[in-house]
Amino acid sequence: MASQSPASGELISFEGGQMHTPDRPLVAFIEGDGIGVDIWPATQAAVDAAVEAAYHGRRQIVWTEVLAGEKAHQRVGTYLPAATLEELRRVKVGIKGPLTTPVGGGIRSLNVALRQELDLYACVRPVRYYPGVPSPLKNPERVDMVIYRENTEDVYAGIEWQSGSAEAGRLIRSLRDELGVSIDPQSGVGIKPISPTASKRLVRRAIAYAVSAGRKSVTLVHKGNIQKFTEGAFRDWGYEVAAEFLGQVVLERDLDGPPPPGQVVIKDRIADNMFQQVLLHPEAYDVIATTNLNGDYLSDAIAAEVGGIGMAPGANLSDQAAIFEATHGTAPRHAGKDEANPGSLMLSAVMMLTAMGWQEAAAMLEGALARTIASGVVTYDLAGPGTSRVSTSAFARAMISRMHPEGGN
Ligand code: NAD
Repeated sequence: MASQSPASGELISFEGGQMHTPDRPLVAFIEGDGIGVDIWPATQAAVDAAVEAAYHGRRQIVWTEVLAGEKAHQRVGTYLPAATLEELRRVKVGIKGPLTTPVGGGIRSLNVALRQELDLYACVRPVRYYPGVPSPLKNPERVDMVIYRENTEDVYAGIEWQSGSAEAGRLIRSLRDELGVSIDPQSGVGIKPISPTASKRLVRRAIAYAVSAGRKSVTLVHKGNIQKFTEGAFRDWGYEVAAEFLGQVVLERDLDGPPPPGQVVIKDRIADNMFQQVLLHPEAYDVIATTNLNGDYLSDAIAAEVGGIGMAPGANLSDQAAIFEATHGTAPRHAGKDEANPGSLMLSAVMMLTAMGWQEAAAMLEGALARTIASGVVTYDLAGPGTSRVSTSAFARAMISRMHPEGGN
């Protein structure tokens, strides 16, 4: 089907955090750096095919490209143009490939900048197993978790000063003189803000999801034994929010036996213990709500249990906007070679279609991906004995040939 000009698209609107999607919705995309040039076109073709198979032309996404990263730098001389932020604020729903982030100096992380500029306060990462994907676990099918990671504060707030800088010196002196705290004067220093507002809206969203999706539990993950007034406070505020869900949740610490049917169990775990738990007893964990840095580490670790970050999708959400993204990076060694796995971006598109209320197209896309992998047609990273290794574009074609119209109407 011919693609349409962005001018013909209609805006998706948000009400109470829910999307209202017209039949020709405008959706923004950022191609991404590195392997973005390979995995984005594959994903776009498969999404369009899934929507067509589900709705036979009655619905169609109208794509609008916004520039970010190296492509933006080459074309307009800046990595995150103001026009991109403006268009994302207007269109409200977007999907993106990975963007390069230099370590130390240079430009700030574009991903962090996007999340903060659009106040995308919840990073949501579902992790489940697809048969046929190599996994380091004996029973990877036991992994089925959804991580809600706070996205706007913690050490990611970017409040830090270099060792030896005037600002670091000033802060260190003021801590010594005003609060009696002694820090090596040559230290670099960073600030870790954790607020009740940001913590509570994140936990509220995680519990609301768990209740509406019929999930079993929400685990608050924190390092409150050491960082009492930041991580520990996150846990306490989480339990305060749980009290708002009277009759829908039960606290693990109040339980003396199995939970009442239909109620979501709220529990908490210290972060280091949680890393053991998700390896040893993944079936005991379901929805996870956690602070920014814990969530960053934990989501990659859990993704690795089911075949790695090449397959893990993600969404960054506020109550008025949503950006869906591949969770892996730009994999520069594979860039432009038509060999990377588009699975993470494809599954991010499944999340997007679901959030848009286009469940039939989401099921079509996810089903085609699962069937393709289960049939042994895979990209290099999933290849092994008994599989047939194909390129990124051939993988997308194989998926498109496996779209069945059973979910359509
Ligand atoms: P990476 O995710 O790019 O690569 C890690 C490993 O996974 C590599 O071996 C890579 O080849 C492999 N890999 C990643 N995605 C794959 C895919 N789709 N198919 C097959 N194999 C895949 O992580 P990195 O090397 O640490 O980072 C490279 C760059 O990406 C850095 O600039 C980093 O800042 C950036 N990055 C961006 C994002 C994002 O945009 N959300 C996330 C992480 C890293």
